[in-house]
Amino acid sequence: MEHADGKNPRAWWGHLREWAVQVLFPEGAVCLGCGKVSDGEALCPACRAELKNGEMLDSWEREEIAGVPAWSIRPHRGLARTLVLRLKHGAERRAAAELTGLLRDRPEVFPAFPAETVVTWVPMPKNRRRERAVDHGRLLAEGVAAELGLSCRALIIRRKSAPPQARLNRAGRERNLQNTFAPGEKITFPVLLVDDVLTTGTTARRCIEALRAAGAKEMTVLTMTRAART
Ligand SMILES: [Zn+2]
Repeated sequence: MEHADGKNPRAWWGHLREWAVQVLFPEGAVCLGCGKVSDGEALCPACRAELKNGEMLDSWEREEIAGVPAWSIRPHRGLARTLVLRLKHGAERRAAAELTGLLRDRPEVFPAFPAETVVTWVPMPKNRRRERAVDHGRLLAEGVAAELGLSCRALIIRRKSAPPQARLNRAGRERNLQNTFAPGEKITFPVLLVDDVLTTGTTARRCIEALRAAGAKEMTVLTMTRAART
C-alpha cells in the first residue's frame, strides 16, 4: 500500500478524498467497479450499465455438469469478475445484490422453476467462514431465491475443511473434494444450486452427487460467472 507523505500532494488529495467519502458515506458509497463516489449505490450508473449491457449482453451460458444443466450469467472477467472477487474476498455484500439482480434480465431460454424448488449453495469451510465474515455462497443463493420467488435453505453439509480449491489443479481438486459434501436431508423437490464462479465444475459435481444420493432428481446449477476453460 502506498503511504501519503507530504512530498506527494496528489496522493494526499487521494487519501483525503477517500477519508472524506468514508466519513460522509459510512456504508461505503464508492462504486465497486471503478472506485468513484457513487451516491450510496454499489455501482455508479456507468458501471451498472456496463454490467447490464456492455460487452456482456446475452452472455448467459448453459452447459452440463454430471447430467445437470449448469447456467452462468456472465464470463468471469471485467466488472462481473470484480464483483465476485469483492464479494468473496472483500466481504462486499452489495456485490451479491448487483450480481443476483442480473436475473431480472434473464433470457427467455432460462428455465422457469416449479414453486417447490429450493435454492441452496455450496457450503463454505467453517474456518474460512470466520476469516471472511461473509458466507458469499449463501448470500448469492438468498439473492437468487428472492429474485425468482423461491425458498432458500442449506441442503448440503460440508464434512471437513479442505484447502482452498483455487490453489489446486483438476486432479488435486477431485481428491480434495472426495467425501467433502454430504446431504443434510432427504430431497423430494427440485434443487437450484448456486455458486459464485464455475471453474472446472468439480465442486458443483460433488454437490450434485451429494444431492443425488439424498434423492434429488431435478437439479440445476447457477453460477454468477464462468471462468475461461484452460
Ligand atoms: Zn463505477
